[in-house]
Amino acid sequence: MLKKISNIFKRNAKQAPNEPNTLHSGQHTLSAKKISSGARKVVEQLTDGGYEAYLVGGCVRDLMMGLKPKDFDVATNATPEQVKELFRRSRIVGRRFQIVHVRMGPEVIEVTTFRAHHNTKNSTKNGAKDNAKKSHRDKSQRSAKGMLLRDNIFGSIDEDASRRDFTMNAFYYHPHDNSVYDYANGLPDIENRLIRIIGNPEERYREDPVRMLRALRFAAKLGFNLEENTAHAITKTHKLLADIPPARLFDEILKLFMHGHALATFHLLRQYKLFDVLFPATAAALSKDPGYYLKFIEQALTNTDIRIRSNKRVTPAFLYAALLWPAVKETEQLFSQQGDSPVYVLQQAAGEVTTRQCQRIAIPRRFTLPMREIWELQLRLPRRAGNQAFRLMENKRFRAGYDFLLLREETGEIESGLGLWWTNFQDAGDEKRQEMVKKVQQPRNASRNKNRRRKKTAKPKPSTSPETSRHD
Ligand code: ATP
Ligand code: MG
Repeated sequence: MLKKISNIFKRNAKQAPNEPNTLHSGQHTLSAKKISSGARKVVEQLTDGGYEAYLVGGCVRDLMMGLKPKDFDVATNATPEQVKELFRRSRIVGRRFQIVHVRMGPEVIEVTTFRAHHNTKNSTKNGAKDNAKKSHRDKSQRSAKGMLLRDNIFGSIDEDASRRDFTMNAFYYHPHDNSVYDYANGLPDIENRLIRIIGNPEERYREDPVRMLRALRFAAKLGFNLEENTAHAITKTHKLLADIPPARLFDEILKLFMHGHALATFHLLRQYKLFDVLFPATAAALSKDPGYYLKFIEQALTNTDIRIRSNKRVTPAFLYAALLWPAVKETEQLFSQQGDSPVYVLQQAAGEVTTRQCQRIAIPRRFTLPMREIWELQLRLPRRAGNQAFRLMENKRFRAGYDFLLLREETGEIESGLGLWWTNFQDAGDEKRQEMVKKVQQPRNASRNKNRRRKKTAKPKPSTSPETSRHD
């Protein structure tokens, strides 16, 4: 799809280093018609307001490759306040990285002000007034390890290009002149299917460790390879991911596993040891029993990919239930003592795993609660006698619990049979269902909550930090 055009751009000696390669109309496959009307209007209105404005990032990258963009992002030299003034239905969001969400009909367009480098010139001088210091802290702040805690220093388009993550993400498109501006020499990389971080890889990952996740997400989604230095630096910086605020990681994890290439992403995350940082308990279970647990997660992610690609709904609760199941199974072994009911042991293990995981990734309570219900249903689904099967079918999480059961059977954790029974039960009419229930033998450990008393003996100490409820 992409034309072989990079040799048009052999930079001539006179070209200034910060001048872009330009693809004029006819040299690329983009056209204003392929841009959403909302994004076009935003660019138009900014331009009419006397500002520079371009389509930028993934939308230009995807259109150059003949793919359908997920969303449309706009970059401008207008400050967030100026953008907000221009658009009635807009709001400034974010503190670390301030942007403006502009509403255009059903669309929300992200408008980003050109960013510049954070250098000594930009930093607050000693002796500056307190107010100046505070306002500067909102613009530029770094942690001791080099992470940018505030990234709001504004600049010009060429500076902005060098602040973006990968060369393939630094194309700027202007619908008026139908030209693509390539400031970071991204064209040859797209042609060679390479993900190359802009600037010094280690430094750029230190500034924002989420860039490591983004590199792997794009590699999985586009089928690209990581350029050598871009890949190698991850081996030095992967642990920094633990410093990212858990709420931001929650959003990033969903992007990683909900774009239709979850299985490929999972393999890359394991290869670069990022999975160990994100899901330490599951990673430990995987190294203990790579056979079954690996098969289980791979199957869960394969199913997720199939669902997403056929536009079916996937709930984060199910995804996390699967990703954390190996950790729950391992933790159950620590908690189980003779006499405790399986339900009690599962609840203890589930609580422990959830609390610990939420310290790293802030899974909102609206997902951890159904996730735990899916786990608990695994012990309830075998109990079908009397009215139990009918009642279970009315449970809000029945379908997810049943799918989870099928997954466990499919990957050999438990014997097949129960899943098929439930499949038939759902398909059967009322009379047949009654017949099926009559034939059911209650499982031996079904007496509810037998021996549920707490024991004060040597149980592992549950972690104390509360589960997050940020999104509640
Ligand atoms: P997609 O939307 O298809 O997932 P994208 O590349 O558009 O991919 P967005 O998260 O929408 O990703 O970001 C838009 C653009 O903003 C990116 O293409 C990139 O230029 C820039 N960007 C996003 N996140 C970062 C980051 N952490 N560091 C540097 N630049 C970034
Ligand atoms: Mg995007």
